[in-house]
Amino acid sequence: MQVNFGGFVSLSTIDWRGRSACSVFLRGCPLRCSYCQNEAIQAGEDYRDLDEIVDMIRTSAPFISGVVISGGEPAVQGEALMALAESTKKMGLSVGIQTSGLFPEILETLIARGLAEKIAIDYKTRWEGFSSTVKEKADAPGGYQKRVDRSIAICKRAWADELLPEFEVIVTVFYENEKYIRTISEKIGDAPLVLQQGEHKIPMMKDEIANMTAYIARKQNTIEQYTPMTLAEIQEIGKNLKRDVRIRTREVGEIVFSRRFIL
Ligand code: SF4
Repeated sequence: MQVNFGGFVSLSTIDWRGRSACSVFLRGCPLRCSYCQNEAIQAGEDYRDLDEIVDMIRTSAPFISGVVISGGEPAVQGEALMALAESTKKMGLSVGIQTSGLFPEILETLIARGLAEKIAIDYKTRWEGFSSTVKEKADAPGGYQKRVDRSIAICKRAWADELLPEFEVIVTVFYENEKYIRTISEKIGDAPLVLQQGEHKIPMMKDEIANMTAYIARKQNTIEQYTPMTLAEIQEIGKNLKRDVRIRTREVGEIVFSRRFIL
């Protein structure tokens, strides 16, 4: 089987809390989030044999207990994702999936076949810009919003039934999308919520790479326009939500913000 490959990190202690893991990135994503950290693998082709990627995992296997499959959007390549998860399980390793939630059917199948120990859904808000491309490119009846809601419902049910040991919903927070967070929090109910400090990259600037002066000027402008929220500001959001949240920032990593106390 051929897999459109995006990259491999042989050892990570930050991609799966409490575990050492390796990360496999599958290429391709129909969304175009303005802050995307993996813009280079949103599109393009680098087809590899599945066995080549399984061999990469095998090399890491003595040092890890799990494999994070991310992207891009890994569920774009549903069959490859299943095959990778199956091979990972055969090595006695756990499987974690990072997804935008755009393909609920794939998540449902993964869970039904016992191929995922963790699913993390990155919930995209309208401000981040998914809506302009998802209708054209994702073949998504009802669009992203309905699909991610279905993914969350599937994962929540599986998590409650203990078919899915770990589940979390991640929102990448900026000043500009803060207003959506309460609605998302209410929508996901008791599912674990992670507020992740957003940091704007330089969206849609590929054409300007050839002109470095314009590139640097626009980069500076973009950074000034979108400064990241501070830990204190994100904690304030957590406080107003009146629920436990985990907060991830570049400065301090991950903390638990409890209704009762901060760890
Ligand atoms: S869903 Fe992820 S990979 Fe796709 S554009 Fe958004 S941040 Fe990038």
